[in-house]
Amino acid sequence: MTLAGVLWDMDGTLLDSEKIWDVGVRELAVELGGTMSDELRHALIGASGPNALRIVFEGLGLEQRPEAVAAAGRWLQRRVTELFAGPVPWRPGAREALAAVRAAGIPAALVTNTQRPVAELCLDTVGRHWFDATVCGDEVPEGKPAPDPYLRAAELLGVPPEHCVAIEDSPTGAQSAGAAGCRVLVVPCEIAVPSAPGRVFRESLVGLTVAELHAVLAVPVS
Ligand SMILES: [Mg+2]
Repeated sequence: MTLAGVLWDMDGTLLDSEKIWDVGVRELAVELGGTMSDELRHALIGASGPNALRIVFEGLGLEQRPEAVAAAGRWLQRRVTELFAGPVPWRPGAREALAAVRAAGIPAALVTNTQRPVAELCLDTVGRHWFDATVCGDEVPEGKPAPDPYLRAAELLGVPPEHCVAIEDSPTGAQSAGAAGCRVLVVPCEIAVPSAPGRVFRESLVGLTVAELHAVLAVPVS
């Protein structure tokens, strides 16, 4: 089996953007009249838009009236858009890892739960030339942890997901990639990710080689 594609998560994997989301959701919690506990914050890492709002409302013990949830969603989107317009820091080794995959000529996609407008702001930092396709959370029926984003990315690359390696930092993202049939290189950022078949762990992206990605593809999925 040859490595047919490398599928990159964005928040927490390429960019240290979870910190920006952290600021956004903390401020949202205050806006909603509550405060964010560490437990709630952890539950939110890697969660998608509607899912993240559900977790916030549940965590704060608020009634999930559709109009209130929608208003909170608009508030959060506006705030993180402001925050993402500033510089977003890279994760260690991420830029070099992207370059290594590009130099090897392996098809690559960005696979993010973040919605397209904010993802585009991040792509101004990351660069669009690394990717043959980009998939955002608002472009698939269900975001991570559902397999949809990874299935869509493999489809756009025209490769089987089973021949792809996804690179993820969160339990939610790793679950999504695994459910799509991808092997997963897990590089935890904010929180630990449980081990599972088909997952290989690495401390950071520093020094990542294409040979290692080929090796990830060879790990058993069950
Ligand atoms: Mg992530």
